Amino acid sequence: MSVSFWQRAASADSAAYDVVIVGGGLVGCATAYWLHRRRSQLRVAIVEAQSIGQGASGRNAGFLLQGTDTDYLTALDRHGPRRAKHFWRFTRDNRDLIEAELQGAAFDFTACGSMTVAGTEAEDARLQEAVSPLRAIGAPVVYLSPKETNRRLRARGFWGSLFVTSGAVVNPLNLVQQVAAESRAHVFEYQPVQRVTAAGDHYRVETDGRQMQTRQVVFALNAHLPQVIPALAAYVRPVRAQMLATAPTDRHLRLPAYTHAGAFYIRQGPGGEVLLGGARHRHAEAEVGYDDTTTAAVQNDLERYLHAHFPWAQGLDVTQRWSGTMGFSPDGLPVVGAVPGQPGNVWAAGFTGHGMSCGFRMGQLLAARVLGDARPDGYELFAASRFSRPEAGQMRASEAISDPSS
Ligand SMILES: Cc1cc2nc3c(=O)[nH]c(=O)nc-3n(C[C@H](O)[C@H](O)[C@H](O)COP(=O)(O)OP(=O)(O)OC[C@H]3O[C@@H](n4cnc5c(N)ncnc54)[C@H](O)[C@@H]3O)c2cc1C
Repeated sequence: MSVSFWQRAASADSAAYDVVIVGGGLVGCATAYWLHRRRSQLRVAIVEAQSIGQGASGRNAGFLLQGTDTDYLTALDRHGPRRAKHFWRFTRDNRDLIEAELQGAAFDFTACGSMTVAGTEAEDARLQEAVSPLRAIGAPVVYLSPKETNRRLRARGFWGSLFVTSGAVVNPLNLVQQVAAESRAHVFEYQPVQRVTAAGDHYRVETDGRQMQTRQVVFALNAHLPQVIPALAAYVRPVRAQMLATAPTDRHLRLPAYTHAGAFYIRQGPGGEVLLGGARHRHAEAEVGYDDTTTAAVQNDLERYLHAHFPWAQGLDVTQRWSGTMGFSPDGLPVVGAVPGQPGNVWAAGFTGHGMSCGFRMGQLLAARVLGDARPDGYELFAASRFSRPEAGQMRASEAISDPSS
């Protein structure tokens, strides 16, 4: 987009900030929020390429789940007991902080619990086995038999599930906008950052029509990080997620469900609309990249799943289809780090489809780091230094999961 004479004149007196945050999703806005909370006199700006929450943060299902994108046994295998427990606690803190800090009514915060539902007998066995280690870390989980699971969801064909009493859902776009408003940061929308360069003892942040000076920069770009800092491309790769919404119906689902090892996620919206996402696992190659369109292949799989498992949804019109870009990290956990050649600047990315479940708490971590805490709680868990030599080729392929409709 071109820049008018008036727009350039308005930005010519390049504003000066203490901290500029690049990216206006949940993580960027939460960083601004926590900076304001801890040091209200700081001058903070959020610079966003589109509008606040137009990226993945305003396009997701609004689940505030606990733990990783995998079942807890897989998290134990992959990350070890200490890190798996730490991450579970981090996501629990995220949910509790959202409830404690913000006026939940503005974003439909609903503390309904959530269900992790098995699509196969083997997954069911893993969920049952996970109950004891989860309870040992204080996770409030209850195993539900296949019969009880299908009864609660008014569904058919599912195996057992874990009912996580602390799960919650939100309207994600309203949440992000609320966090941005409460941060009191100066928000610049439709200003894609083109470059950040060192200029003496400060940094210069440049968009097409604006220049800002700042002492520190936080890059909260998730999937888009490599587009602004190509040197960090090994830590995050863009992966598309697709969803659909149906016409409203009676309230059949009282709580959100995450099924088939996370391959599908389903809830009802405030008006009774069915919101369903996933089916990416069958189209893993096609779903990599920044292309923000829906495809018939994934959307048809979503509809097949809906009709196979939820008889009450048959005949409901699909009223909306959309997609968003997630950022996947090499090991499934978010990554934070220092920006090469830019002392004091930090980045966070790689939320691997679960950034709502930890993004508000991540903002607290990033704010602490900006304010000089060398190792705020969680920093070691997520530090980029855990990868000795991250290379794109080492990145985990999408989870091998069962065919849900078989
Ligand atoms: C369909 C879908 C369903 C999902 N469901 C869930 C769920 O239920 N629960 C959950 O926990 N997670 C879910 N996720 C993942 C979650 O949405 C993300 O992990 C989370 O939003 C990441 O937040 P973020 O702030 O890091 O990134 P984003 O929200 O992507 O924010 C990054 C921002 O940077 C901006 N930007 C890009 N380039 C520039 C630039 N050059 N200059 C300035 N700004 C720039 C983008 O416009 C964007 O707004 C889902 C994602 C999708 C797509």
